Amino acid sequence: MGWGGGWGGGGGGGMFAGSASAQSGRAGLPFGGIPSELMDEATRLLASEEKRAPSSLAFRQRPTERERRRLTLPSVLAVYPKWVVAGSLLVIAISFTLQSGPLLTEFAIAHGMERGHHSLAVVAACALAYLAFALASALLQRLQVNVTGRLASRVMHDLRIRVFTHFQRLSLDFFTEEKAGVLMSRMTSDIENLQQFVQDGVSQFALQGLTMVVITAVLFALNVTLATWTVLLVVPILLLLTIWFHRASERGYLLSRDRIAVVLADLSESLYGIRVVAAHNRQRRNIRNHWHVVGAYRDANLYTARVNAVYGPATTMIGILGQALLLGIGGHMVLSHQLNVATLIAFFLYLNRFFSPIQLLVQQYSTLQQGRASITRLRGLIETAPQVDEREDATTLPTIEGRITFEDVSFGYNPAAPVLRHVDLEIAPGESVAFVGPTGAGKSTLAKLANRFYDPTEGRVLLDGVDIRTVTLHSLRSQLGVVPQEPFLFAGSIRTNLAFGRTGTSDDEIENAIDVVGLRELVRRLPEGIDTPVHERGQTLSAGERQQLALARAFLARPRVLILDEATSSLDLRSETVIERALDRLLEGRTAILIAHRLTTAQRANRIVVIDHGGVVEVGTPGELLAANGAYASMYAAWLASGGRDASRANT
Ligand code: ADP
Repeated sequence: MGWGGGWGGGGGGGMFAGSASAQSGRAGLPFGGIPSELMDEATRLLASEEKRAPSSLAFRQRPTERERRRLTLPSVLAVYPKWVVAGSLLVIAISFTLQSGPLLTEFAIAHGMERGHHSLAVVAACALAYLAFALASALLQRLQVNVTGRLASRVMHDLRIRVFTHFQRLSLDFFTEEKAGVLMSRMTSDIENLQQFVQDGVSQFALQGLTMVVITAVLFALNVTLATWTVLLVVPILLLLTIWFHRASERGYLLSRDRIAVVLADLSESLYGIRVVAAHNRQRRNIRNHWHVVGAYRDANLYTARVNAVYGPATTMIGILGQALLLGIGGHMVLSHQLNVATLIAFFLYLNRFFSPIQLLVQQYSTLQQGRASITRLRGLIETAPQVDEREDATTLPTIEGRITFEDVSFGYNPAAPVLRHVDLEIAPGESVAFVGPTGAGKSTLAKLANRFYDPTEGRVLLDGVDIRTVTLHSLRSQLGVVPQEPFLFAGSIRTNLAFGRTGTSDDEIENAIDVVGLRELVRRLPEGIDTPVHERGQTLSAGERQQLALARAFLARPRVLILDEATSSLDLRSETVIERALDRLLEGRTAILIAHRLTTAQRANRIVVIDHGGVVEVGTPGELLAANGAYASMYAAWLASGGRDASRANT
């Protein structure tokens, strides 16, 4: 059946479970409390925690100008210009303070130690200054880590909200096509990669890159000839090696990324399918298969490790070669009085420092790659347009009477394979219509078109004569209630679950709804009444009780039109009677589409529509259809003969 996990609007379900942790906390999982020695710390932390302003968030189906902006690293950072400027200034300051050491050394030698310039005062002053700069750079680095850390967490907070808001906009087709696991990983690992990148990667790259520039500039300032020699001899080899490293490590990264995806896919399939695996004795083959995919992933990692192992030591080697050349050339220049010893020593010290950023960058390279890949993936996600979108000029649908018209409607989840073909159907206000037919006939699909979970590929769906594509999704769905086959209950109490469909539901209304759907007895039995927490997805309630809750939720939302997918799982006779009674109350004065799996439900509807192979086969009152002796009559006969079980199995 097509409803599974799908219905999200009106009084229906949703895609994701609510906060599971809040749930387990309330469900009374064993938790010993915070140890007393941590309590003070915790209180202090809580007191210093930033208070979040009361939420002024609004949801608009159409993204704002700002939300439509292309997702790039500069654009997300640009929202916090002050922090970016502060971070950049700090990076510049750190790079200068860090590189003052060799210059001070040169000064101390030239003006404090060389013959004719002996001065303990100069040496002492230089040593003190060295210390001061070292201290300053440590303090600045601490400040910088603080600034970039805060910047990163703000950027990520914004991004999480932006992606989540986008999820709320996307249409159902997106959630059926994309695996929830993939979306989860966008929200977790991708956003974390990016956070890591903004926090450490960007500033490290800026700092180390700047350090190399500063050192080069200082070398030229110290002595142009020697600096030119050094650059000419060292930089070309370094450049070639770096180009090779970039290519090789990109390849390694792509390889390991693809292979970890295979590992995760294999893992999740084995875990989800564990019952089938065990039942078919596939454990050994599974292990062998996993051994292969994990091995391939390890090989990819080893490749990256080998690339790093070549590049790192090779740059060190170039550094040493550079120093040997420097010793030769510089020594010659000293002997021929073109250079003094102090400058040569400074050159040595700087050349050494020129290579250490490279080592650091090698370590940070994977952060850069992951950050880049993550932002590309998040951009792809954010740029996915909802298939069912609101028009720019969408109007508010006024309160409707409840006439539903399907006008020559055709639809296919995949346009090449139509599921519905030229359906014409009119449902009068207040009328209840049962859709019956074999599984896969298209009953749920037709119902999903009525509240715009999908748009027809051809034809129109009208509510009170208004094409539903011309109205806002909010005004449309607030008048349509949906009760899915598998009602989704959120983490929270019975009260919050019932009041889900409408804000400002009063206690009296909730109590009334509980009576209407026949849940009074259950509520009386529960320890905290309607405030009793519902366990995750309502697993502690019976199927019938979950259905009743879903009906009560729809009842409270007071929709003009109700779409109900009857549960296929057989209920016990008592629950069935209770639910039928609740349904009668719920349908009073409402237009209703009932996807009927039990023909008893169909028999109670005003009209029955028999759907098969994506088309309407028969329409009429139950009496008319039985008298006509057509498809419905034979279904009914088969159903009676089978003892009145699931109608969709009683094929026409
Ligand atoms: P019914 O409710 O009558 O059992 P559905 O409307 O759920 O039938 O399904 C009609 C056809 O559409 C079936 O062949 C089903 O496999 C297909 N279908 C249902 N949902 C989807 C979906 N989300 N994506 C692709 N095909 C789907």
